[in-house]
Amino acid sequence: APSSLPVLEARALHVRYGGFTALDGVDLELPAGRVTALVGPNGAGKSTLFHCLAGTVRPARGVVRFGARDITRMPAHARTRLGVARTFQRLAVFPTLTVAENVRVGAEQGRVRDAGAVERTLRLLGLDGPVRALPAAGLPTGTLRRVELARALAAGPRVLLLDEPAAGLDTAEVAALARVLKALAADGMALLVVEHDPDLVAGLADVVHVMAAGRIVASGPPGRVLDALGEATGP
Ligand code: ADP
Ligand code: MG
Repeated sequence: APSSLPVLEARALHVRYGGFTALDGVDLELPAGRVTALVGPNGAGKSTLFHCLAGTVRPARGVVRFGARDITRMPAHARTRLGVARTFQRLAVFPTLTVAENVRVGAEQGRVRDAGAVERTLRLLGLDGPVRALPAAGLPTGTLRRVELARALAAGPRVLLLDEPAAGLDTAEVAALARVLKALAADGMALLVVEHDPDLVAGLADVVHVMAAGRIVASGPPGRVLDALGEATGP
């Protein structure tokens, strides 16, 4: 990968929900050209951290930076314009719009006005055939996940945040997704993948962070970190 400068970083994030501490001093860097994975049990705080990066949860303490810029208080839509795109754990496509129209909405929310972005992105995700003209409602989950990813990519992001992108996908779809995400990283994008599927993480991530109880408790290359996890939780 061409570079490892952090595009997006979090420092000492604390989030509380009422009396419950969801993030307890989390540091994270998302370098350009790398796929970073976030794993850990339910309730560990993965989605909360994700929301802090996307701008949908405001930390009580700590800082989120995009390059040198402090974006801790910047709302989500402004982060998208700056170059931070995301997908949703629960799919968020417009059901009555066609596939191509959904992707166009993404392009309009983006960083730059780029006339070719919609077509390029449809092609990249294999959505440039007849499916482009179909309404999103009723399409299979695997196709909708690609539409959602295309919508995020059409904004021309430098950082892509994915919350459980493999949920509901079959083995072939997961493999195709991994190929696309690797290609994006090879082009210099910084990616964060929150994921349960250890096979996807092992084949995709450059670095894995393990969360538990609101902290990052282990970090490293997937081979080492996932092996350690398997020993800790395995039979
Ligand atoms: P993960 O994505 O790792 O499963 P989350 O970040 O969703 O974890 O949740 C971390 C903890 O914070 C969980 O115990 C969850 O119940 C709690 N939590 C998450 N969102 C809220 C909220 N809006 N209000 C209260 N508690 C929440
Ligand atoms: Mg979650």
